[in-house]
Amino acid sequence: MQLFPDAKVLDIDLSSGQISKRTIPGQTYRLYPGGSALGLYLLMQEMDPKIDPLSPENMLIFSVSALTGLPMAGLSRVVVTTKSPLTGTIADSQAGGFFPVHMKGNGYDSIVIRGKAEKPVYLYINGDDVQIKDAGNVWGKVTGDAEKVIREEINNEKVEIAQIGPGGENLVKYAAIINMCNRANGRNGTGAVMGSKNLKAVVVNKSKAQQPYDKEGFKKLAKSVTTQLENNPGVAGLGKYGTGGDVVGFNDEGFLATDNWQRSYFPEGAQDIDGETLYNTILKERDTCYACPVKCKRVVEIPGVVDPLYGGPEYETLCMLGSYCGIKDMQTVVLGNQLCNMYGLDTMSCGATIAFAMECYEKGLITDQDTDGLKLNFGNSEVLVPLIEKIAKREGFGDLLAEGSKRAADQIGNGAEEFFIGVKGQELPAHMPQYKPAVGMMYAVNPFGADHQSSEHDPFLVMPPDSQERMNIAKIGMHADYDNTFVMDDDKVRFVFDSQCFFSITDTMCLCQFLWGPCWELFGPTELIELCRTGIGWDTSLFELMRVGERRINMMRFFNAQAGFTKKDDKLPKRIFEPIPDGPAKGTQLDEKKFYESIDLYYAFAGWDAETGNPTDITMRKLSLGWLVEKYKEVE
Ligand code: SF4
Repeated sequence: MQLFPDAKVLDIDLSSGQISKRTIPGQTYRLYPGGSALGLYLLMQEMDPKIDPLSPENMLIFSVSALTGLPMAGLSRVVVTTKSPLTGTIADSQAGGFFPVHMKGNGYDSIVIRGKAEKPVYLYINGDDVQIKDAGNVWGKVTGDAEKVIREEINNEKVEIAQIGPGGENLVKYAAIINMCNRANGRNGTGAVMGSKNLKAVVVNKSKAQQPYDKEGFKKLAKSVTTQLENNPGVAGLGKYGTGGDVVGFNDEGFLATDNWQRSYFPEGAQDIDGETLYNTILKERDTCYACPVKCKRVVEIPGVVDPLYGGPEYETLCMLGSYCGIKDMQTVVLGNQLCNMYGLDTMSCGATIAFAMECYEKGLITDQDTDGLKLNFGNSEVLVPLIEKIAKREGFGDLLAEGSKRAADQIGNGAEEFFIGVKGQELPAHMPQYKPAVGMMYAVNPFGADHQSSEHDPFLVMPPDSQERMNIAKIGMHADYDNTFVMDDDKVRFVFDSQCFFSITDTMCLCQFLWGPCWELFGPTELIELCRTGIGWDTSLFELMRVGERRINMMRFFNAQAGFTKKDDKLPKRIFEPIPDGPAKGTQLDEKKFYESIDLYYAFAGWDAETGNPTDITMRKLSLGWLVEKYKEVE
C-alpha cells in the first residue's frame, strides 16, 4: 500500500508578482485531505483572522482534494477558503463543473493567492507554466463576454475559467466566483475578495483524467455505482426536474418561505415557479459535471430574453428570486438568475436582500425616494431585474443592497433589523427551521453562516425503519422512529452533529452531496472507503474519515473564535420562533427555549465550551490541532 499522496500547492503573490510551488507531504495531507480543511491548514499558518477581508492581507485559496480528477461521478468540486466580507467569519464556498478536475489535472491541489495586483490581471495555468496576465480587456465585462475574450486571447477554446463579474469588481458583499458562466462558488462573498485583489479570473488548461491507484478495483466500483445510479428513482427525479422539483411539495406542506418569511404558503405562485413547470416550458437541456450521468443542472432558453449559456435556476434560486419576493413570473425569475450569473452575484443572498428591502418598503421604512422610484411591493416582478443591475453596479439604491440585508438593516434602522432573516450576516436558505429544526440548528451553529448543505435534513428520520436501514445514515448510527419532522430531542441533536461530520467529509474531499451524502440511498461510507483505497491507495476507515470531517469543522470554528465570534452569534432570527401565520402548517411553532437548550447539548456533543461555544483545547488536541492552540497562545 502506498503512502497518502503529497499535495501540490501553487503560491501566487499578486503584490510582488512572485509565483512559487511547494509540496505538503502525504502524512500531513492525510489530516487535511482537501477543501477548506486544506485551505485552513494553509491559511491559518500565516493569516491573522482579525484582518479586513477586503485588504491585501486576506488570502484567497482554491482547493480540490486528493480524490479530485478520478473518473467517477461526483468527484469534481472546488472549494474557496478565505475570510468572508459578508459574515466576517471563515468562508467556505463550493462549486462543481469541470474547473475542479482540470485544476487538479494541471498539478495543483491548492492555489493560494495573496496580496493585490496593481491593475486587473488574470492567471493562466498550464501545468508548470503559470502566468499573471493583463486583464485590462476583460475588466468590467460580464462573465460570458469575458470568457469569450480570454479564450480568444490565449487562443485556446478548451480552458476552464473561474471568474468574477462586475459584482465582484464592485465589491458587492455577496459576489460570487462563476465557472462555465453558470456554476457558482456563490456564498460568503468570495467574489468580492477576488475583486479586492484585482483578480478577474483563474484560467486552467484542459488536462487528462487522474489514473486510479488500483485500476481493476476502481473499475469495479465505478460499475457498481453507475448501476446504483441507474436504478434509483430519486436520482431520476433529481435529473429530470433538478432540485427545483421540490417547490410545490414544500408549498403543499405549508413550508415555502414567502414574502421575506412573513408567510410560508404561496398558493398563488408555487406551481408557476416549480422545477416541473420549468421542465415543461423552457428547459432546453440538462447539463452536468465531470463524469456524472445524473445531469441535474438546468439549461433554459427564452429566445431573445434568456441565453442558455447562463444555465437555469435551482431550488434555492427559484425560492429566493421567486417566493421570497412574492414573484410568480418564471421568466422574471429565470432572467434574474441569468443576471446573477452574468454579473457574478450569489442568487441566494441577492434574492433574500431584495425580499428584505420589499418588506422595509411595504412597512414604510423606505420610500420611493430611497429606492430611485422603484415600487418594491412583494409580487412586483418589474423591479427584480433593474434592482439586480443596480446592485451589481452599486448604482443608487443598489449600493445599499450590495452590502447585504444585515448591513442594509443597520443603516436603515427603525426596526429594520427585525426583517433581516439570516445568521452571522448571511441570509437563510429556503428550508424552513419550523419544518426542519435540525437544519435550523445547523443554520445557527454553522461556522460560515446559515447553510443547508452542512448536515442532513430532518425528513430522512421520518421514513420507515426499513428505508432508514437501506440508507447510508444507518451506517453512521442514525436511526429514529419519528412520525413528524418537528421533534428536537437528544437523537435529533446527535443526528445534527454526526451528519455534520459526515457532510464535512464530503466537503473536505470535494464530493457532490447528491451522490455521496449520507441519505440518498446512493454511495455512502462503504463506497467512499473503497473509493479512497482504489482511487489513491488510502487504506482508511469510517473512523478516520469522521475525524477528518470533525477536524475541518473545528478548524473553521477555531478561526471564528480568533476573529471574535462566540455562542452569541449562533442565533436564529426572532421571526423563526413565531407561529406560522397561514397555510396548511398554520400555528406550527418552533419552541425557542427548547431550541437553544438543544444547541447547548450540541456544543457538549461537539466538545465545545458551554460558555463560549468555541472548541476547547482538549477537543482541538484530540483532532491533532494542538499546533493551532499553541500558535494562537503565542499570538495572545
Ligand atoms: S448530481 Fe448534479 S451537481 Fe452532482 S455531480 Fe451530478 S450533475 Fe453535478
